[in-house]
Amino acid sequence: MGAQLQIKGGLARGGLAYTDAVGAEAVQVFVGNPRGWRLTPGDPAQDALFVEGCAERSVPSFIHTPYLVNVGSPTEATVEQSIACIAHNLARGTRLGVRGVVVHAGSAVGEDRYEAALRQLHDRLLPVLESLPDDGPRLLIEPTAGGGKALAATVEDLGPYFAALEGHPLLGVCFDTCHAWAAGHDLAAPGGMSATLDTLETVVGPGRLGLVHANDSLDECGSKRDRHTNIGEGAIGVAPFAELLAHPSTSGVPVVVETPSERDGSPTAGHKRDIDLLRSLADVPSESRPTAA
Ligand SMILES: [Zn+2]
Repeated sequence: MGAQLQIKGGLARGGLAYTDAVGAEAVQVFVGNPRGWRLTPGDPAQDALFVEGCAERSVPSFIHTPYLVNVGSPTEATVEQSIACIAHNLARGTRLGVRGVVVHAGSAVGEDRYEAALRQLHDRLLPVLESLPDDGPRLLIEPTAGGGKALAATVEDLGPYFAALEGHPLLGVCFDTCHAWAAGHDLAAPGGMSATLDTLETVVGPGRLGLVHANDSLDECGSKRDRHTNIGEGAIGVAPFAELLAHPSTSGVPVVVETPSERDGSPTAGHKRDIDLLRSLADVPSESRPTAA
């Protein structure tokens, strides 16, 4: 269990202090402005210390690419910048020894562009995957909440998405509970989380799930809105997260929260609380787990 690090004061110094403050056993970072295109080279000294610090703690790390990335865009400049950004983040990820680089599935944007957008994935993104070393990092596709002309929001949407990328061995999935809920998967119904994860595995095959984003949602199922909240304090509730952690496809898969971190006047208490709560759910034997109301 871990968190999206909120870093002040350098990747290693700030990031590792945050890791320890929230008790994270897995971490996700941005290696640049999450809302910009600038490709920052990083500070080699901080990078080396970060790698060392994660290794000392046996903490697997992940990079999240900036939100602007959209390989499916109808705008050539955006496609070019997206590819450059993904390649840059994968290169940074290789240097940082991350397990995966998360990228939002993206959007076709205009009407009747779905096939064209999938073709762009094939023609532009597949060569990036093919240029990676066999040992990764993996590129983890994160289905989105389903607004606009999303290329993948439901887990079923990952079928054509993976097909467009020829099921490249370094492709994986980042499953975000808030996004899946927003896209219409009723995770709060008894067995709903398990059914969604079963379908995910059927669609992309076993072993593709590389990371879980555990987030509760402020909105109703199918809202297509992406407003995260702390675990158990939103419309999804606590029980589905126990179901998530008990599902065989999440066994050994890191889980990070992207929830509000500020709580009770502390900048880290929200993440610490969510990580502790998820850890307690993972420890509960399945017979005594709470069932969904
Ligand atoms: Zn997410």
